[in-house]
Amino acid sequence: MDFDLSTEHAAWQRLVRDFCETEVKPYAAEVDENGSLRWESIRKMKDVGLLGLDVPEAYGGIEIDAIGVAIAMEELGRACGSTALSLAAHNGLGCSPITRWGTQAQKEKYLPLLVSGEYLGALALTEPGAGSDLAGGVQTFAQDAGDSWVINGSKAWITNAGIAPVITVLLRTDRDAGTNGFSMILVEPNTPGVNIGKPEKKMGLQGSPTVMISFDNVRVPKDALLGSLGAGFRQTMEILDGGRIGIGALSVGLAQAAYEEAIRYASQRRAFGKPISAHQAIQWMIADATVEIEAARLLIYQAAWLRANGRSFSKIAAMGKLKATEVAEKVCHDAIQIHGSYGYSREYPVERIYRDQRLMAIGEGTSEIQRMVIARRVLEAMGS
Ligand SMILES: Cc1cc2nc3c(=O)[nH]c(=O)nc-3n(C[C@H](O)[C@H](O)[C@H](O)COP(=O)(O)OP(=O)(O)OC[C@H]3O[C@@H](n4cnc5c(N)ncnc54)[C@H](O)[C@@H]3O)c2cc1C
Repeated sequence: MDFDLSTEHAAWQRLVRDFCETEVKPYAAEVDENGSLRWESIRKMKDVGLLGLDVPEAYGGIEIDAIGVAIAMEELGRACGSTALSLAAHNGLGCSPITRWGTQAQKEKYLPLLVSGEYLGALALTEPGAGSDLAGGVQTFAQDAGDSWVINGSKAWITNAGIAPVITVLLRTDRDAGTNGFSMILVEPNTPGVNIGKPEKKMGLQGSPTVMISFDNVRVPKDALLGSLGAGFRQTMEILDGGRIGIGALSVGLAQAAYEEAIRYASQRRAFGKPISAHQAIQWMIADATVEIEAARLLIYQAAWLRANGRSFSKIAAMGKLKATEVAEKVCHDAIQIHGSYGYSREYPVERIYRDQRLMAIGEGTSEIQRMVIARRVLEAMGS
């Protein structure tokens, strides 16, 4: 076994970390306060490769493996939750389906735009009445109208939809075919009948835009279908499996950031004649966080390694996402505790990181859904 990053991965980690230290982390509070992404930084990500992690070089990306993606997401998470979530959605949800299933014409049309730094990508799965249970709840429908599709319905909580050149939409193309009745269709947001709502007012991740979309008799050409007719549900499950590694890595980064802030603060703040870091209760929180962050990181990188090596990774990715998001919650909670009242103030980053991390146990499959996936895989393997 080898727990070291390869020379290439270590160099990539240094590159992304250095970029985030200068271009992302210093602006995280501003992004949160202003409720908008910093486009100056996003445009610069083009040259680093962060806008085309999965995208082939021919279309302007760097097509790095799953370990490289995890490294990028951890570093972005460590720097700024809002920026990291929008980049996770852009790469994993926006670019990835087009890279995987796009025709030559779809790739040529959309991938260069997606990596340009002028837009970010989006995938619309969730609806007002369907989140965890997409198969049972999705109502958005595309009617076959000869040379076009006519789409009606609505999507909720879609990251980056208002800043995307194209949105991949999961919808039904056959109401009677169960999970074989779903397809993915590419919709350009300026198509007549597409209405993008105002950004949702959220607890955290203020800079990452989350919007509702409605489709009112939206007509798109027949060749806007992404992948095969009826394959949409399987495509969605595949994308979500990979996305769990990204959100897990992002959560490890958030936990790492809160942990570093807590250690710095504990070394400076004094109580009862010594730095609070000299009190055993504080040391135990630091020790527990050290163990838990490392355990979460190992699971996430194991999942990434399995994926990079073409092995089955679904169960470990779900385990990694579950662990990393629960660790982020606990570590951020303790980081505020270590800061005392100052941790409750917007003056200190741990307050923002705590709010940002809360979504991670909900998005791309809640913790309950991760437990269902894990248990199902275990029971299948045991023949139960
Ligand atoms: C900031 C943000 C960004 C997002 N970005 C996107 C995006 O880009 N694209 C997109 O498509 N969606 C996005 N979402 C939506 C997100 O993925 C969903 O909210 C999530 O999948 C949960 O769905 P839900 O909110 O409908 O909850 P529900 O599915 O209604 O679940 C409610 C509760 O019931 C539990 N539950 C449901 N079923 C079961 C079960 N069988 N057993 C046990 N418990 C169960 C859930 O775990 C949860 O605790 C985003 C959401 C947010 C808040």
